[in-house]
Amino acid sequence: MIDLRSDTVTRPTEAMRAAMVRADVGDDVYGEDPTVRALEERVADLFGHEAALFTPTGSMANVLAVAAVVEPGQEVLCESRAHIVRAELGAHAAVSGLTMRTWISERGQVDMAMIRRLFAPDLGPFFVPTAAISVENSHNFAGGAVLPLADLLDLREFATEVGTAVHIDGARIWNAHIATGTPLREYGAIADVLAVCLSKGLGAPVGSLVVGSADAIAASRVRRKRLGGGMRQTGILAAAGLYALDHHLERLAEDHEHARLLAEACGADPATVETNIVVVDRPDAAQVVEKARAEGVLVSTVGATALRLVTHLDVSRDDVERAAAVLARC
Ligand SMILES: *Cc1c(COP(=O)(O)O)cnc(C)c1O
Repeated sequence: MIDLRSDTVTRPTEAMRAAMVRADVGDDVYGEDPTVRALEERVADLFGHEAALFTPTGSMANVLAVAAVVEPGQEVLCESRAHIVRAELGAHAAVSGLTMRTWISERGQVDMAMIRRLFAPDLGPFFVPTAAISVENSHNFAGGAVLPLADLLDLREFATEVGTAVHIDGARIWNAHIATGTPLREYGAIADVLAVCLSKGLGAPVGSLVVGSADAIAASRVRRKRLGGGMRQTGILAAAGLYALDHHLERLAEDHEHARLLAEACGADPATVETNIVVVDRPDAAQVVEKARAEGVLVSTVGATALRLVTHLDVSRDDVERAAAVLARC
């Protein structure tokens, strides 16, 4: 089976497993795991922030990152198909007691006109105060679309001017970085808090990080423990993340090229494919999924009329060419 359902399906390589086996470990709840600390320091530095915190999942990283800047009873603004509002089972409401309002952008983009209209930090005693603006880069359900740096700079300027926080859901910020050449530090400078994943394109089996100020991360460490996310000899997992940063970052360019090949095979415009995700509109999406499966290619749907194909470390050029032929037939 060629599995194009998600970039989360990768299995750790032999070399990654070897790095995990060798990892120096300690009890991370006591702050004594040297490998976790090394990963946290490295990722904080990559984004030009003071500190970072390892979490088991990207969802937990987002919950902690948003809660670091938005209090219970406040709101965060985000795009209507953002992962934080669509795909985290309401965790920010259920766990953190905050609400969200959304703008709609086909490509998941920053829309400053809408953000200015929605933004309401202090409308009096009936209204939920806006405490943060969240953006997703690359944007998963908008087909891996990248947010242009110029738009992010406008957002930063606005946020600074009005004194609100910016959260970036950077689960796939690595892909945005490789696709555009924008330094990670420039993305880091846009945000007060970021969440980044190691278990998507980078191919680690587990792990995400919250990135931000020393204070935000200290508060996140407490909340992580409260959620049951205080882990012990996590260096085993952090070692996979360090290995992925060393060996799996630059190669994301291949995934992006593979995604364009698949888009072409599906009759989609490859120019709309900016990273490793292809979304194709098909009224019969569910049937295409079944036909492709019968021919050994797994794809998924996002909504009733859209197919999603995701390229990753475990699909080779050969696999992509075979999948392209199958998808062209389907
Ligand atoms: C995958 C993903 C996450 C985190 O998901 P987990 O499955 O909880 O690790 C967060 N944001 C985006 C945009 C994602 O694609």
